[in-house]
Amino acid sequence: MHTHKTIQVPSGDPAGRLVCPACGNGSRFIEIAEQVIMTTHFIQNRDGSFSSVDRETDVGGRVKLFCGKCSADISQFHSHLQEMKF
Ligand SMILES: [Zn+2]
Repeated sequence: MHTHKTIQVPSGDPAGRLVCPACGNGSRFIEIAEQVIMTTHFIQNRDGSFSSVDRETDVGGRVKLFCGKCSADISQFHSHLQEMKF
């Protein structure tokens, strides 16, 4: 029996540990940013080659979270991942 209500806070073991509700995977997750603008600053060297000196990444669209094992969309836990990643 499965209930399909949205759960916001993972109820893993220990408490707060994220576990995929579909397959039980608790180790591998995939984050996908839909719209990423990457800005890279270059300096041209005397010999005509280029060196990148600075790089900025801007995420414009939605960021989704997927299970790394069964690919279930678990974006409801994405804010939890943001808080817990180091
Ligand atoms: Zn899964």
